[in-house]
Amino acid sequence: MSALKKSAASHDFIAAGNFSGLLAAPPPDQEELSEILARSLAKECLSVAQTARLLAVSDPQQRLQIQQAAETLKRQVYGNRIVLFAPLYVGNHCVNDCHYCGFRTSNRDVQRSTLDSDAIAAQVRALEDVGHKRLILVFGEHPRYDAAFIACSVEQVYAVHSGPHGSIRRVNINAAPLDHAGYARVHAAGIGTYQVFQETYHRPSYARVHPRATRKGDYDWRLHALSRAMEAGIDDVGIGALFGLADWRYEVLGLVAHALHLQTHYGVGPHTISFPRLQAAHGSSVDERHLVSDEDFAQLVAVLRLAVPYTGLILTARENEALRRRVMAFGVSQIDGGTRIEMGGYTQADQAQDLTREQFHIGDERDLDTVIRELLEAGYLPSFCTACYRLGRTGEHFMEFAVPGFIKRYCTPNACTTLQEYLMDYASAPTRASGEALIAQEIAALPDDGRRQKLLSYLADIRSGRRRDAVF
Ligand code: SAM
Ligand code: SF4
Repeated sequence: MSALKKSAASHDFIAAGNFSGLLAAPPPDQEELSEILARSLAKECLSVAQTARLLAVSDPQQRLQIQQAAETLKRQVYGNRIVLFAPLYVGNHCVNDCHYCGFRTSNRDVQRSTLDSDAIAAQVRALEDVGHKRLILVFGEHPRYDAAFIACSVEQVYAVHSGPHGSIRRVNINAAPLDHAGYARVHAAGIGTYQVFQETYHRPSYARVHPRATRKGDYDWRLHALSRAMEAGIDDVGIGALFGLADWRYEVLGLVAHALHLQTHYGVGPHTISFPRLQAAHGSSVDERHLVSDEDFAQLVAVLRLAVPYTGLILTARENEALRRRVMAFGVSQIDGGTRIEMGGYTQADQAQDLTREQFHIGDERDLDTVIRELLEAGYLPSFCTACYRLGRTGEHFMEFAVPGFIKRYCTPNACTTLQEYLMDYASAPTRASGEALIAQEIAALPDDGRRQKLLSYLADIRSGRRRDAVF
């Protein structure tokens, strides 16, 4: 396929949305707000215009109603499960000059490197040794990180098995946009989700922070990146915006429009939405006009949850633990734990963050065991499940909502068995005690049928040291 082949559905769904006009309207009255919330609670996606109505709310009481509705929806759709993953930075060479990023080409102070296969293996062993099963590989944009290189890195990760139970079962990617042939190549390597963040959907702001002469200067090539990925056979894609570059409300509309665009043209929406907030980075400059306050951040997570009830929301360690705790309740389904974002950071886990090797500064430096214990104590069920992916139930996320009762019948028991494995193989004594208590609660909440018996027998196997590949 030609590198220049355009995506079949490449019309400008952002310009067509008239976001500025929608956002200029006065706030909704109580009746309109209640109608929109009722639609969400009936698990229907909101239109871009309806999402804009929620974003127009400024009254504190009405904002609270939105957050409470998001909490209810999150409980109904996802239950208390939280999926855990870790990012692994593979290479920080970059030809772009994004004003906000520590890896920008004009930052002469950053130490540049690329993990070779031995270095990848060392990082993956360190990650497996604390219990990780899901990784996202992160790359700068550089000709050396082409599709073949990315695919090869994925294969290297899957090949590493540390100790009797160490294995990475799902490798996601966050890398520069590829052409159709490139996506087909990385798809063949068995990737999970391919993420590309638009950074900002607001064209003038995009042009301000991405110099036109650089690869990333092409807004449209990036906007249609994941359409190309889907056309090349990747059915799990992740969209995102870097909050802090333009009006946060505009970005939320961009994300919702993008999700609806993919859903309409490819029959399946994005698997995940990420909403990183801009963090301080070495050698980068930040225009502070659009920085998002904690209050607005909480609001944007709640509105996203309500607008796209069935899309996973990813909250990263860019945020500090207090804020993470708060917004998790509004509808986050995945978080990272024990995160190090400096190159080679997982084998130097006792060292402080080093700004000359990392892309930006993170807010949550707790280790995985601590993150898991705190999740358990707050009543969440940490999950390392990758069952759908392993069984070829592709479009994992689609299954979760398309099949009634799927989460109860499959996701919850699989979360319990993967948590039990974690507790046996990697957890500290206090985390194990909290985990056993939570699993007991989950079992008690299951109907007393064959499925419960099957779960009890799997758990007994795991506790006695046996492992079987069987999943629900
Ligand atoms: N280089 C590829 C790209 O730009 O798409 C992929 C990797 S880039 C390292 C991953 C993401 O990090 C970017 O898409 C951007 O949203 C985010 N990022 C960059 N600088 C950041 C900063 N200062 N604070 C928070 N997130 C940042
Ligand atoms: Fe490079 Fe990505 Fe950083 Fe931009 S955001 S400088 S493309 S690593």
